[in-house]
Amino acid sequence: MAVNRVGAFFCSSFKLDWKALLGNNWSSSPTSDDFLKKGKLFSTYGGTSKARRLILLHELAHIFEAPGVVWDAGSQALSDLNNSFVMHYCSDVMNQP
Ligand SMILES: [Zn+2]
Repeated sequence: MAVNRVGAFFCSSFKLDWKALLGNNWSSSPTSDDFLKKGKLFSTYGGTSKARRLILLHELAHIFEAPGVVWDAGSQALSDLNNSFVMHYCSDVMNQP
């Protein structure tokens, strides 16, 4: 796995915003519409621990073909959907300060 040296993993000039479905709004097969309408907005700056955890877990989910994770190249909506899976299944890690 390669991490972009000039991307949000390292650079604080990036701001990451994503919507994720949590708790009661989560279903086993959410659609893009589900998280757009019911998702909670999360944001953090690049280079932070939270940004790095999100990026690494998201990319690892692709590598290991985690169930529900979809190919999201070029689609922020699908990337957000995948981030929802990270926030849901890795909440213990993602909710750390
Ligand atoms: Zn992705």
